[in-house]
Parts: sequence; C-alpha cells; structure tokens
Amino acid sequence: MGTPAAETGSIAKPATTKRRERPVIAIDGPAGAGKSTLAAYLARRFGFLNLETGAMYRALALKAIDNDLGFDDEDELLDLAGRTRIALKPQLEGNIVLLDGVDVSRRVRDGDVTAAASRVSVHPRLREWMVDQQRLMGASGGVVMEGRDIGTVVFPDAEVKIFLDAAPEVRGNRRYRQGVPAQAEVTEEAVIRELKERDARDRNRSESPLRPAADAVILDSTTMSLNEVLAAAEGIVRTHIGEPQLQ
Ligand code: C5P
Repeated sequence: MGTPAAETGSIAKPATTKRRERPVIAIDGPAGAGKSTLAAYLARRFGFLNLETGAMYRALALKAIDNDLGFDDEDELLDLAGRTRIALKPQLEGNIVLLDGVDVSRRVRDGDVTAAASRVSVHPRLREWMVDQQRLMGASGGVVMEGRDIGTVVFPDAEVKIFLDAAPEVRGNRRYRQGVPAQAEVTEEAVIRELKERDARDRNRSESPLRPAADAVILDSTTMSLNEVLAAAEGIVRTHIGEPQLQ
C-alpha cells in the first residue's frame, strides 16, 4: 500500500482546536480484546487509516531493551524518546512499525517487548510525549485510532468512541489460540496471567488509566463471535457518522 507513514518527532505543536476535516474513531479496551482486528476492519470499511498506538509504546520499549536501559527511570526514557523516530504505516491488516527507519513490526510483538511496553507506558511525561505525537498523526481525522486512552485523553472529542471489552479468560483463550506469543511452551494459563497483569498496570496507573470515556459505547464481546463484533461496531460507527465512503 502506498500509505504514507505517520511519524513522530517532526512537529512540536500540540493538537489544534481547529475542526478536523474527517472524523476520528477511537477504539479503547484491555489487551487481547480484538481492538486491532476491529480497527483494521473499520478502517477498510470507512476508508480511514488505522493507527495502533500500542505499537509506539512497544517500539520505544524495544529501543530501551536494545540500549540496556531499565524501564523505571522516566528521565532516561524521555531522553531516549527525544532521540527516537517511530513511524506507523497503516496496512490492510495492522501497522508496519518503523523504529528509526527499521521495520520492527514482528520484533515488537515478542514477549519481552510486550512486558516492557506495559512498564514503559506508566510514566506520565512519556505518555504526554506519546499523546502529542498521536494527536498530530490524527489531526486531520479519517483515522481509526486504537489504544487505551484514545477516547479519554488523546481525542476526547472523537466523533465515535468504542470501548471493546471481554472477560480476561476469553481474551486469554483467543490470544492463546491465535498463537500469540508464538512460543510453543507457553500455556493458556500463562497467557491469561500475563494479560491480567498488563490490565492491572493499565487500569491502576496514575496517568490516563484504562477506563471507558463517559460517552463511549461499551462493546462486551465475551459471548460474541468476531463477525458479530465487527457488525455491531460498524453499526455504532454508522449511527454516529453515517454511511461508509465509497472507495
Ligand atoms: O495495544 P498493545 O498491547 O500493543 O499495547 C502495548 C502496551 O502499551 C499496553 O500493554 C499498554 O500498557 C500500553 N498502551 C498504553 N496506551 C495506549 C496504547 C498502549 O498505555 N494508548
């Protein structure tokens, strides 16, 4: 696809209050709820770009690992962020992630990076840095942005907000069956435990904890099939912004 990459580090200006040309669809929810699949689907359906903000936290966590940094020193991580370019290239299925120009799309899904991203993302000033970049990436609208704080912090004025949830056991089971992470020795119980740990960290952090925005539509997919979730979400988006654009 010839989609340009949305990249960090280019402009320092915060989000403008100017009206966007096109809507923003915010998808938030806990790990393993199916947000990326839903975001990619809605982006295709409505002719928008899908942006996975979690991949940005993952990319910075990977750079911290590669530089032998810890995950608890916010000053050090902020300094690192200032020397880092993270670009997301929306594709039909998910994003290509470029870290300083190198494609790290697969590496950022590994277990060590996943755990590190969850720890890196608790730091308030680092989150501010990420949020500034994300606002710039979505400033013109026409995006489905997916993460934990899109409807509450990044785009509190998003035209559509969906909070996609499911019971932890169901999310863990789906993720296990997808083979993520793909190590054969990982048990379903371990996947569920890891999801719960990440959830707890996301929900309990002081800065922009994971929670539905007051005006979000909550979609609990615990007993729904994938097709039912996609159809329900598409219906929610249509109700808010009308019919998909013809491509
Ligand atoms: O969504 P994903 O699992 O790729 O996100 C990786 C980590 O980044 C999450 O565990 C979460 O802690 C963090 N994150 C966040 N805010 C976002 C997106 C992700 O704190 N908007």
